[in-house]
Amino acid sequence: MLRDTCAADEEWGVVILRYFNPIGAHPSGLLGEDPKGIPNNLMPYITRVATGKQPHLKVFGNDYPTRMGEARREYLPAMHLSRAPPDQLSSGFTGAEAYNLGTGVGVTVLEMVEAFQQASSSPVPYTIEGRRPGDVAICYADPSKAQGDLKWRAEHSLADMCRDVWRWTTKNPDGYSTGVKEELLR
Ligand code: UDP
Repeated sequence: MLRDTCAADEEWGVVILRYFNPIGAHPSGLLGEDPKGIPNNLMPYITRVATGKQPHLKVFGNDYPTRMGEARREYLPAMHLSRAPPDQLSSGFTGAEAYNLGTGVGVTVLEMVEAFQQASSSPVPYTIEGRRPGDVAICYADPSKAQGDLKWRAEHSLADMCRDVWRWTTKNPDGYSTGVKEELLR
């Protein structure tokens, strides 16, 4: 629809930013992810296990054609995504362009578990379960177009992302429902 709109009216300019799984938290520990209920996504689920709110992680599938058999995904530092390039996207742009915002690095589920255990010094027990319906084996970005055209680049550091998530989690064990709002408003 966006491409058709641009084709129909040459005054339109549309940039489609395709971002991959953003994870992480602000290094201050004041801003982070706070999903309601039981999370579906990997990183928030891991934090629930590390804090004892869920007994174990269910690893969905270990028979994919990857090194360890689990699915491989891209995890993009949310802080890098927040610096996605508005300047280059401003005036004078017409037509429709899509850009992948990612690091180009794929991580398996157990690599993520390992990195989180190291960053948090907390165990993340897991069981191997069947594949989750609809999951693909491997999905990560080719960010070269964004790097070339937009000069946008995200560095991959699983250890940093896990460290920031753990800081946010330990500072705010109940997410935004505790004192963090007052701290942000100060
Ligand atoms: N995953 C898992 N257990 C969970 C949640 C996710 O094994 O409780 C796996 C999932 O199968 C996928 C990866 O972790 O291979 C990332 O899942 P997520 O939902 O976070 O991202 P998406 O699949 O949408 O890229």
